[in-house]
Amino acid sequence: MECGGQLDDTDKLPQRHLPTAQKKCVRCGKAAVLVVQTSAAFCRECFLNYFTHKFRSGLGKTRVVQPGERVLLAFSGGPSSAALLHLVKRGMEEGTQKKRLRIEPGLVFVDEGSIVQGFDVGQRQKAVQTVSKLAEDTGFPVHFVMLEDVLTDEHSTETDPLVTVSDSEETSQDTTEDVERQVKSPSIDDSSADRLKRLFEDAKSLTAKEDLLQMLRSKLLVRVARMHGYTKVMVGDSGTRLSVRIMADIAKGRGAALPLNTGFADDRHGDVVIVRPMRDFIAKEISMYNTICQVESVFLPMLTTKVAEKASIGHLTEAFISGLQVNFPSTVSTVFRTGAKLGVSHDQPEGHKRCAMCKAPLDTGQTPLQSSVYKTSLAPAGDDSGECVATGQDLGPSLCHGCSLTVADLGDWSTLPDQLYA
Ligand SMILES: [Zn+2]
Ligand SMILES: [Zn+2]
Repeated sequence: MECGGQLDDTDKLPQRHLPTAQKKCVRCGKAAVLVVQTSAAFCRECFLNYFTHKFRSGLGKTRVVQPGERVLLAFSGGPSSAALLHLVKRGMEEGTQKKRLRIEPGLVFVDEGSIVQGFDVGQRQKAVQTVSKLAEDTGFPVHFVMLEDVLTDEHSTETDPLVTVSDSEETSQDTTEDVERQVKSPSIDDSSADRLKRLFEDAKSLTAKEDLLQMLRSKLLVRVARMHGYTKVMVGDSGTRLSVRIMADIAKGRGAALPLNTGFADDRHGDVVIVRPMRDFIAKEISMYNTICQVESVFLPMLTTKVAEKASIGHLTEAFISGLQVNFPSTVSTVFRTGAKLGVSHDQPEGHKRCAMCKAPLDTGQTPLQSSVYKTSLAPAGDDSGECVATGQDLGPSLCHGCSLTVADLGDWSTLPDQLYA
């Protein structure tokens, strides 16, 4: 868990923006080896200080996470969440007692293998084992869940579908066996895996599939947190990821939920708050941190792996932003800073309705222009409330504009699993 000093060659660092030898570290004046998002040059030591300080001050300033709080860290195996785990672990171990990060962390990994095309049980098993090895190295309790678990009944008392595979006290031998057993029978309730597959097959566009995945993943994370007594969930969304999301959300008509989708704290679920402490870092900085601190991450195939650039709004936006970022290194921070200026209005009336699916404040039916947009996929509720609901015999659940488009893509709302509205 020590950082810095071990790597003498700069070969392993990203090459594109390496400064020339004459650049000096903006903090100490030594020869700089790294350039960060502000185009400031740093030596290795000052970069680590900058990075760690920024992470800690983000948590300190916002006061969202309280000392002693149980925090669930969402680990995907990717570089950003791997850096998050490393930062938390270091924060809890280093420095004076008073300055240490005082939280009770646990880890969660959501296995999304069932919706990845061509990803067989063997590959899935291997992927989970690789992640479990990295997860267990932290010494934190680890919870393994599968995405299809979200479609099991939350209040079911028969079985607990959300199995905690690993605990810090267990030996890794036991854990590996448990993981194997888990993956061999892809779900305790096999029908939930089938239902999840069918749901994703029913979505015509990849954009709808991505929105669905995002929504189900958040619901599952919150559910695992509730079941195990965590009050915060930390996710690894980087500034780069979030700036793509800002642009994509606007394009998808999800602009009203943007402050919740990209802000530091997302409190739409009430008792469990989703926190994004990596949002101040761009992907390049995270990869520098991981290189210097030798933080391991794994690449796992996802829903959108190997799809064409124009396959979805999210994918196209990502290609657009990263294309700009190559020649204009402040692209991400500009988009991100602009997006961060948007906030959720707190003067909404008491009992203001939330979207039944994504739980964001309802943005529908406020102006004639908006309602005309809905007519393409939705019918008005029939009263004078100005609300729009998905088409069907009965009044459907109230949906925000973005979710109503997702549901329209999926077909009839009444055939969708109830858990989507939970
Ligand atoms: Zn320096
Ligand atoms: Zn919604």
